[in-house]
Amino acid sequence: MPEQLIFLGSGGSRVVLASQIVGTGGFVLQIAGYQVWIDPGPGALVRAKNYIRSRQTDIIFVSHHHLDHSNDVNAVIDAMTLGGEKKRGILISTNTTINGTEKDSPVLLKAYREALKDAYALNPGDKVTVGPLVFIATPTQHDCDAIGLRLETPLGAIGYTSNTKYFPELVEAFKGCKIIIADVLRPGAEKWPTHFCSEDAATLFKETKPQIGIIAGFGLKMLKANPVWEARDISKKAGITVYAAREGMKIDLNTLFVS
Ligand SMILES: [Zn+2]
Repeated sequence: MPEQLIFLGSGGSRVVLASQIVGTGGFVLQIAGYQVWIDPGPGALVRAKNYIRSRQTDIIFVSHHHLDHSNDVNAVIDAMTLGGEKKRGILISTNTTINGTEKDSPVLLKAYREALKDAYALNPGDKVTVGPLVFIATPTQHDCDAIGLRLETPLGAIGYTSNTKYFPELVEAFKGCKIIIADVLRPGAEKWPTHFCSEDAATLFKETKPQIGIIAGFGLKMLKANPVWEARDISKKAGITVYAAREGMKIDLNTLFVS
């Protein structure tokens, strides 16, 4: 299996979720013999069919229970466990996604919890180690118990902000990452209390200096502004290479070649 990062869409927010102008399937890492699926939102299995074998997924990371990030988690577990027949795989997520709260039902259905080998509900700072991979939950300021991810791998650390507003602790959380993927809802300096705009991504990338920055999780305004131009502006401000995610985009984790 090549060691690579594959995007199954670049969409976020309610309007983009509903319209599927771009996909909301999240992204997949194939690394050290593991297939890790991050944030399988609505349509994840459909978006995946041209790029990966969904059944070969070993680990799912769901950053929070909002549907644009979590909707297809049960479908992916169904695929990877042969409808629950073969108990295998790990889910790493939040308390609301796995256990639910007084207010919210869990997204993970009981039958699929039983089909998994393990499910871990993390708070920021918590870690789960699987073989050579270390999953570290990073902090967020969203409107729920969302976590981001710092994934330590034999090829370096990969960061994912998930949905959050910008706050200075993110710099510490993602410092030293080789690749950082930031969810950017809005273009330019259009600040929003629970999400990044392009200016926030530029600040994070400038302070952390990954070899590659990737923006994803686009809302409608971002798509209208054209994420490719936004990525170019962010790149200039941050002084690093920045790509806008698109369905089917692959990054070779050994060479950082993007195709
Ligand atoms: Zn969210």
